[in-house]
Amino acid sequence: MQKEHVNHCLTCRTKNCYHRKLGAKTSNCLEIDYAKEVRLEPSEAELINKANSATRKVFERRTKGDFTLNWLKTFLRDFFGDQATIGVASCLGSIETARTVIEAIESEGMKTTLVTCKLGGLTVKNIDKPGVPCEHPGCNPVAQAKILNGLNVPVVVLVGLCIGHDMIFIKHCKSYVIPFITKMPLTFGTL
Ligand code: SF4
Repeated sequence: MQKEHVNHCLTCRTKNCYHRKLGAKTSNCLEIDYAKEVRLEPSEAELINKANSATRKVFERRTKGDFTLNWLKTFLRDFFGDQATIGVASCLGSIETARTVIEAIESEGMKTTLVTCKLGGLTVKNIDKPGVPCEHPGCNPVAQAKILNGLNVPVVVLVGLCIGHDMIFIKHCKSYVIPFITKMPLTFGTL
């Protein structure tokens, strides 16, 4: 039987797992309830250390410009190597944002492979602004994931997929996925 999960971190307020000033907690802590899961295999610890090391280098370089974009591109290069081809899954409505992300990644020497969302003639029933029912082209995050799976990219950066489509993409994608930008309609507008 599955054990009951308690949201200890909401009531804890110590953040002891971060600063360790209180010594080992003896109760009401995820580290106690999930002692087995907290212990890592060496390969798992190595993977996390590799990600931490790549991120630390980003902070050490203090690169000028958009911090988050710099973080992304330098992390990708340090973690996957400058010979990697980076997958990008984008909404067609976010294509110019995807272009900015791709140019940044390629400026580090990596290649990119982009797959946008309007694949396969799907339609979405909707109500337009004057209240009239209409259909418009729909997104196909399953096809996006399948295409990128076939291209064997080590990682996919998501740029502007809708909430829900990102979820479906992540479930179907075999590579690592970095949800870099989730769709923000007020920012990105519509097609
Ligand atoms: S893991 Fe434990 S110490 Fe950390 S916030 Fe949750 S309950 Fe507190």
